[in-house]
Amino acid sequence: MRALYATDASEYQELPLAVALPRTEADVRELVRFAARHKVGLIPRTAGTSLAGQVVGSGIVVDLGRHLNQVIAFDRTARRVRVQPGVVRNELNLFLQPHGLFFTPETSTANRAMIGGMVGNNSCGANSIVHGTTREHLVSARGFLSDGSEATFGPLTPAEFTAKCAGPDSLETRIYNPHPTQPQQNPVSFQSPR
Ligand SMILES: Cc1cc2nc3c(=O)[nH]c(=O)nc-3n(C[C@H](O)[C@H](O)[C@H](O)COP(=O)(O)OP(=O)(O)OC[C@H]3O[C@@H](n4cnc5c(N)ncnc54)[C@H](O)[C@@H]3O)c2cc1C
Repeated sequence: MRALYATDASEYQELPLAVALPRTEADVRELVRFAARHKVGLIPRTAGTSLAGQVVGSGIVVDLGRHLNQVIAFDRTARRVRVQPGVVRNELNLFLQPHGLFFTPETSTANRAMIGGMVGNNSCGANSIVHGTTREHLVSARGFLSDGSEATFGPLTPAEFTAKCAGPDSLETRIYNPHPTQPQQNPVSFQSPR
């Protein structure tokens, strides 16, 4: 198993310390806590088609595609779908097709690439100039921080951002506000060059 997970689609090769195949969110949380306790790195991985060694390393490779591959919820009216990281891009589109919808980013590896990895790489494809890249279709992402706590990231209004900065002392609050003694300004909004 370690040899199998020592490569991805890149030129790099490195034997990981171990390979984990979590079945549930609780397994993922436990892995994060284990890694923090033992000070080892985790390497989240879905299809492993990355070209720059993203999923190769000396830590514990966590294959999130093997079991965590379900469509969890679908709202036709809002045109939103909630998925686990291991859903393959083309399989998601087979699911959406009868509803007249599709998830647009079309990497050449779309019959293998999974949504977790597409988010990690901000994957795109030949028609991304028209349809946008993965991040332009991502509504929010829920996961675990390095201490095992759960967090959801998505767009925030200035008021929501201020509330996050003033939250109870936690890793999530420190991400928004690394220097709690200094009051945070509202986030600067950037104008897209397009
Ligand atoms: C022949 C070929 C053609 C390609 N063409 C394109 C292309 O046209 N467009 C394009 O954008 N890319 C392309 N790629 C690169 C790659 O296929 C895509 O970026 C693909 O979307 C990656 O998906 P994956 O499931 O393989 O991700 P992986 O390689 O498994 O992971 C990608 C990144 O996401 C992280 N990650 C995965 N799951 C999670 C998770 N649950 N939580 C946190 N982090 C996570 C990983 O740690 C890694 O950093 C190509 C690759 C090959 C080999």
